[in-house]
Amino acid sequence: MSPLEAIAALGHEEILFRQDSSSGYRAIIALHSTALGPATGGTRLWPYSSTSDALVDALRLSRGMTYKNAIAGLALGGGKAVILAPPEPFDREQLFLAHGRAVQSLGGRFITAEDVGTTPADFMVAARETEWVAGFDGRGGDPSPWTARGVMAGLVAATEHRWGNPALEGRVVALQGCGNVGDALARQLSEAGAALVVTDRDAARAERLADEIGATVVAPEAIYDVEADIFSPCALGSILDDSTIARLRVDVIAGAANNQLAEDRHAEALSARDIVYAPDFVINAGGVISGSVALLNETQDDMVRRVDGIHDTTREVLDHAARERITTLRAAERRAEMALAHARKDDR
Ligand code: NAD
Repeated sequence: MSPLEAIAALGHEEILFRQDSSSGYRAIIALHSTALGPATGGTRLWPYSSTSDALVDALRLSRGMTYKNAIAGLALGGGKAVILAPPEPFDREQLFLAHGRAVQSLGGRFITAEDVGTTPADFMVAARETEWVAGFDGRGGDPSPWTARGVMAGLVAATEHRWGNPALEGRVVALQGCGNVGDALARQLSEAGAALVVTDRDAARAERLADEIGATVVAPEAIYDVEADIFSPCALGSILDDSTIARLRVDVIAGAANNQLAEDRHAEALSARDIVYAPDFVINAGGVISGSVALLNETQDDMVRRVDGIHDTTREVLDHAARERITTLRAAERRAEMALAHARKDDR
């Protein structure tokens, strides 16, 4: 499929390619939908091997944001920016000033914050050029603790759905990625009585966490073979593919990473193996919800209620899928599509 065909198939409203030769900034900003509000989603900085890899990532991630924001009940659309990491060394400040100018040029139709490879500090820099950034002190704060809290809520709901009991005591969780979200989630799981097997590409990070919470560490590639109740992917996307799904020895998958399924058809492969998959964009919405305080003038109480509401939303999606005999991915997409259809009807 050509990039233009992919854009048409996924239904994007607009794609912006922007470059600034003095800073080495090259980025794609994908606005998937503004039906519910400004297209909102993180900015990823990654050493993509080609522009078309970056485009595909931006297209998939931005559509995921439309669904995530719609399911979370936020008056926000879906978008995503990917910056193609320039060769080292580069001037990070100049890069994020250029990004700020690109975001500003969209006049508020795109709002962004940190994602993989970027930090709240980068958006404080970008904020010198644009008002349409969030996710730092004074603008929603660091989203990661809220993402972890929401993933925990979704994971508990999936546990309840699978075993008829939300308790995590004695459950074994295999957790991939001990970064901002994975680390916080592992600590909550440990406090709730779960036993953890953790991994990270950065072995020292995994060891440090394991020492503190009494977890077992395995090598990154070994995480797919761990016999556990729950697998929690909190590293990068596209990790559930034909080969890893065949290896998994778990009953539930619930984690923070975006786009965990390599392709949508892998939702069927998981169902065929009787593994309950809590769709990533349903349970990892805590971070974007936390930004809603600043973006939508919501109160802190509204925000916390919405993050904790991920529990009930996940239950409803998983129950709906079981009742209708469809995949949990399809059930989640239907829920998002209904919210979008209502918004379009209200516009008429
Ligand atoms: P992070 O960069 O802080 O942590 C990711 C961790 O995964 C790092 O420690 C990295 O070394 C490790 N890792 C990468 N590849 C690995 C591999 N193959 N095997 C094992 N470990 C590996 O990122 P984060 O902010 O914790 O986000 C984690 C995931 O959750 C990402 O996919 C992100 O898109 C998603 N997410 C994050 C947020 C948020 O608020 N931070 C919100 C929604 C979704």
